[in-house]
Amino acid sequence: MAQSAEVVICGAGSAGVAAAYYLAKQQTITNVLVLDKHPPLTQTSAKSGENYRNWWPTEVMVRFMNRSIDLMEALSEASNDIFNMERRGYAYVTESIADIHNYVHHYSQLSVGDIRFHRGTHQNGTATYSPPAYRGFEGQPDGADLLLDKQIIQTTFPHFSDDIQAVIHARRCGAISAQQLGMYLLEEAKKLGVRELRGELIAIEQDHCGVRAVEVKTANGKERIETRRVINAAGPFAPHVAAILDVELPIFSVLQQKIAIQDHLGVVPRDTPFTIFMDEQHLDWSADEEQLLQSEPEYQWMLDKFPGGLHIKPEGGKDSLWIKLGWAFNRTIEQPLWEPEGTLEFPDIVLRGASRLIPELKRYIDNIPKPVVHYAGYYTKTKENLPVVGPLDVEGAYIVGALSGFGTMVSCVAGELIAAWVAGSELPDYAHQLSLARYDDPAYLASLSGMRLDGEL
Ligand SMILES: Cc1cc2nc3c(=O)[nH]c(=O)nc-3n(C[C@H](O)[C@H](O)[C@H](O)COP(=O)(O)OP(=O)(O)OC[C@H]3O[C@@H](n4cnc5c(N)ncnc54)[C@H](O)[C@@H]3O)c2cc1C
Repeated sequence: MAQSAEVVICGAGSAGVAAAYYLAKQQTITNVLVLDKHPPLTQTSAKSGENYRNWWPTEVMVRFMNRSIDLMEALSEASNDIFNMERRGYAYVTESIADIHNYVHHYSQLSVGDIRFHRGTHQNGTATYSPPAYRGFEGQPDGADLLLDKQIIQTTFPHFSDDIQAVIHARRCGAISAQQLGMYLLEEAKKLGVRELRGELIAIEQDHCGVRAVEVKTANGKERIETRRVINAAGPFAPHVAAILDVELPIFSVLQQKIAIQDHLGVVPRDTPFTIFMDEQHLDWSADEEQLLQSEPEYQWMLDKFPGGLHIKPEGGKDSLWIKLGWAFNRTIEQPLWEPEGTLEFPDIVLRGASRLIPELKRYIDNIPKPVVHYAGYYTKTKENLPVVGPLDVEGAYIVGALSGFGTMVSCVAGELIAAWVAGSELPDYAHQLSLARYDDPAYLASLSGMRLDGEL
C-alpha cells in the first residue's frame, strides 16, 4: 500500500504517463506514484486520431513539436518502433489560392523546414510529384511541398475534386499508435521504479510549506499518501483537481468527434497522407433536406457555414479498409463527463463535408458502411490553444494540461518539460511561454485578441 511518494501524478493519460517516464529518467527523483481513477490511457487518450505534425502557426508550438518529434523518433528507435511511427505527411488542400502566398509566407518565417514550390514539373508529358514512403521517418525531408499545378495535384491525388487548386504537403508529420507509445512509456517508467495506483484523488492537504499529502478514494477505501509534489495531469478534469487547491485555470473543454468506417469501395488510396480541407463550406443538402432542417430549430445550425479543418486519412496498413474522418467544428464549451457520447448527426455531417473534397465519398452518404466506430472526447484547451505546463499557484503543485487536439503528439515533450520543472533542472527557453506565468504578461494578454491562427484541427 502506497503511503508516501516524492511526486504524485494525478492522471495516467498520455500526459501523466509521459510525465512519469521523464521524471523517472531524471534519476534525482526515485519515488513517483501515478494514480488514476481508470485504467491507464482509457479516457481522452483513447479517442485520439493519433496524428502528429510540426506544422503549427506559432513559433513556440513549432519548436515544442519539433522537440516532441525528436523525442518520439529516438523512442521509436530505442523500442524497435513498438508504436508504429510513420511519416506520410499532412496534405492541406484548398479550392482557393487567393490567400496561399500569405499563408506560405507566414509558415516560411517559422522553424518548420524549407518550403518547396512545384509549379509544374512535367516528365514525359506527365506532371509528377513523388509521394513519400509509406512507413518510417528516416531520410525524409521536413518543411513542405507546395503543389500549385492542377495536373500534378490530380496525378498525385486522383481522388481529390478537380476544384482543388493547391496542396501544401507538410512533411514532418504522420501517425503513431498513441496506446502503444503510452504503454511503452509506462512500462519503462515502472522498470525505473514508478508505481501505479487505481483511485480517484479527492483531496489535497496543505501546510505552511505547500502540498502535504493527497487523499485517494480506492476500491479498498480512502488512502492518504504523503507527498510534497503533485502533478495535475487530469485531462478534462484538470480544472476540478485545481479547484481542490482553490486554483482557477483558464482551461475549458469542448466535445469533438471522429468516425472510422470501412471504405469497401476503395475511394481513398491507402498511401494518401492525412488530408485536411482548409476551406469553410456549406454542406450540400438536397432541397427537401434543406426544407426539413429549416423547419427544425434544433437542427437549423446544420445549414450554417462550417469551418475549415475537416480531415480524413486511411487508417491501418495497405490491406486495411478503414478510413478515419474528423472535424472539430463544435465550439460549445461544456462541463466534461467521464464517458461522453458522440452525436447522432456527426457521421452524416462529416461524410457530406468530406465529399466536397473527395466526391466519390458521396456514395456512402445515404448508405454509410456499418459498423461506424464513433470516437467522442474533449479538446481541453486554453483560448489560444497553447498547452499549460508548469507550476500552479500553490507550492509543490504543478500542471501538465490543456493538450487540446494535440496531446498525443505533444505528450513526450510536455512530459519532459514538466519533469524539468518538478525536478528543478534546467528549463528550455520556451518553458515560461507555456506556463501559467504567461498570463501575467500584459503584452501577451493583448496579443491574444489579435490572434488569427491557432492551428486547431
Ligand atoms: C476526437 C479526438 C481526436 C484527437 N486526435 C488527436 C490527434 O490526432 N493527435 C494528437 O496529438 N492528439 C489528438 N487528440 C488529443 C489527445 O487525445 C488529448 O490531448 C490527450 O489524450 C489528452 O491526454 P491527457 O493525459 O491530458 O488526458 P486524459 O487522457 O483524459 O487523461 C486524464 C486522466 O486523468 C484521470 N483523472 C481525472 N481526474 C482524476 C482524479 N480526480 N483522480 C484520479 N484520476 C483522475 C482520468 O481518469 C484520465 O485517465 C484528440 C482528441 C480527441 C477528443
